[in-house]
Amino acid sequence: MARLGLLAVTIAALALFSSVDAGAQGKPGADKLYILNCGEGVAGDVSRWSPGVDVGKSMDFVDNCYLIHHTQGWLLWDTGVPDAVANMPDGQAPADPRSVHWRRPKTLISQLDQLGVKPADIKFVAISHTHGDHIGNVEMFPQAMLLVQKAEYEWPGPNNTPRFKPEHPVKTIQGDSDVFGDGTVRIIATPGHTPGHQSLLVTLPHAGTIILSGDAAHFKSNWENRRVPSLNTDKDQTLASMQRIADLMKGEGAQFWINHDKAQRDTLKMAPEFYD
Ligand SMILES: [Zn+2]
Repeated sequence: MARLGLLAVTIAALALFSSVDAGAQGKPGADKLYILNCGEGVAGDVSRWSPGVDVGKSMDFVDNCYLIHHTQGWLLWDTGVPDAVANMPDGQAPADPRSVHWRRPKTLISQLDQLGVKPADIKFVAISHTHGDHIGNVEMFPQAMLLVQKAEYEWPGPNNTPRFKPEHPVKTIQGDSDVFGDGTVRIIATPGHTPGHQSLLVTLPHAGTIILSGDAAHFKSNWENRRVPSLNTDKDQTLASMQRIADLMKGEGAQFWINHDKAQRDTLKMAPEFYD
């Protein structure tokens, strides 16, 4: 009898677990997040990002793109350094030697291909901001809806040129935006690095809530010490955005993934592995 009782409990427990699992898998929302290698580089002088600190020291940078699967479609967060840099034997040297010398060990297209995702499958391309290491492959997705802050979209580029092709489909955002309407992929306005900088909150069934920084902070010590790079367009806005992120982390129990932080990124799973 005792054995039969145990068996019954076991069956009940298994049934419970499988129904919970089926519920999680069948539930609408974001269910996979892949980290893609979108560049590797060396900053000539890291004090460009941390004024007065580590002057003249170089630092390794990484550059990530993040591919998110939602039951309503794929969203790509940032597009990285241009794939064409993969064909440059010495990488892309910056105009300012203190800035980042980027290389492209893997193309974005090859990493999407490995996952069986075609550029035409991408529904949304959301862009943290319009610096070259984040918008390098936007035109690989001419049909995808761009999700960009209005302030960034209208920010005049060099020589007053537009920052995106005028014919590229775009949804300009003012403030925050719940992309799929279910709270699992949320754009939050975090201006300061550029006029329309934004970050992304992704809530996954098992991994929980993750905040993707964009360049709200470039690496951990800058984040912890609230340091503002000299190239940022607005210092006060940058500090307010960092505080906003800190409040969200606390309120939502969220992790904070800093795009260019190599030490942190080296602790995370890269595609084809994923978070769910
Ligand atoms: Zn950047």
